[in-house]
Amino acid sequence: MRLNTVAVRAGHAPDPATGAIAKPIVLSTTFEREIDGSYPRGYRYSREAAPNRGALEGALAALDGGADAAAFSSGLAASSALFQSLRPGDHVVCPTEVYYGVTKLLSEVYGRWGVTFTAVDATDLAAVKGAISAKTVLVMVETPANPTLTITDIKAVADLAHSAGARLVVDNTWGTPFGQRCLEEGADLVMYSTTKYHGGHSDVLGGALVTAHADEQWEQIRLIQRTSGAVASPFDSWLVHRGLSSMPCRFDLHCRNAQVVAEFLAGHAAVEQVHYPGLPTHVGHEIAKRQMLRFGGMVSVQVRGDAAHALSVAGRLRLFTRATSLGGPESLIEHRHSMEGTGSRTAENLLRISVGLEDAADLVDDLNEALS
Ligand SMILES: *Cc1c(COP(=O)(O)O)cnc(C)c1O
Repeated sequence: MRLNTVAVRAGHAPDPATGAIAKPIVLSTTFEREIDGSYPRGYRYSREAAPNRGALEGALAALDGGADAAAFSSGLAASSALFQSLRPGDHVVCPTEVYYGVTKLLSEVYGRWGVTFTAVDATDLAAVKGAISAKTVLVMVETPANPTLTITDIKAVADLAHSAGARLVVDNTWGTPFGQRCLEEGADLVMYSTTKYHGGHSDVLGGALVTAHADEQWEQIRLIQRTSGAVASPFDSWLVHRGLSSMPCRFDLHCRNAQVVAEFLAGHAAVEQVHYPGLPTHVGHEIAKRQMLRFGGMVSVQVRGDAAHALSVAGRLRLFTRATSLGGPESLIEHRHSMEGTGSRTAENLLRISVGLEDAADLVDDLNEALS
């Protein structure tokens, strides 16, 4: 089946008990055991496995062409399970431009457990190569990355990681399975915050890991998921699973609107720089053209002026809501520097935009008024 069909159909079938077309939500934490002690329907206790989570995991694996997938209670819970699968002394190479929670987890949580890491500019292949040591077991990439949408060549980094015996994980939250085929580019694992485009409506927190190989490390990740319990609840699983069916058309419109917004901003006199991989002026445009099917719905803009001016532009917008996060139907704008707080490397005149599903002409009008 082709990708749009997988999105609509994977894990969905009429309910055998009632004929219901919309999938029932199974809230039960515990499941009946046979006289001989077995569980022929595959469920025992819902921390270990549950029907809505299982259906979602099957659909997530199918969407990325993976061997298996695991659904978590948040994106960072998924990253955390991955780091917990490492051993003390193991080394991770991660990008300097990465979701700030990932660096926080590595430095403030897993550092205390003896996992070490080096942050490098992942777009610089020589720097990535230089950061990989005999202890490196995991190389992480986020592309397009937070918040200037730098593009990393997945295939090239996969080759570097593999030649050192390390695994490559790609955070594909901004790319989505419809914009970027990470496993086909050579990644071993894909990580998602399903809070964003998968759920798609700013009303559910979730995360996922999709694996190319059902191997020993994957078994360890599964063990961590089932025993430490940061699992997606039945309702959260249901919401994310429902989100998948409209994801191809939502993501398509996010991408088309983002291209219009990015091109408008790039031509505005009050704008210093626009970061969008779909613009030929973007440093990663050539790689993005090769490895991405679509350029995504996130745009960052640096306005001419200081932090106060950037905040005042955000304050004058009427359609763009001032809030963090992304991937919902409503356009959001965020002054990323103040969100990230002390230690933020983000430029103070940068505004990060999650382009929503409104009419692109209304979005452009709103930006035009706020900038002028
Ligand atoms: C939001 C986000 C995360 C974290 O996911 P949560 O669901 O908020 O835990 C990780 N990576 C990227 C790229 C994100 O946008």
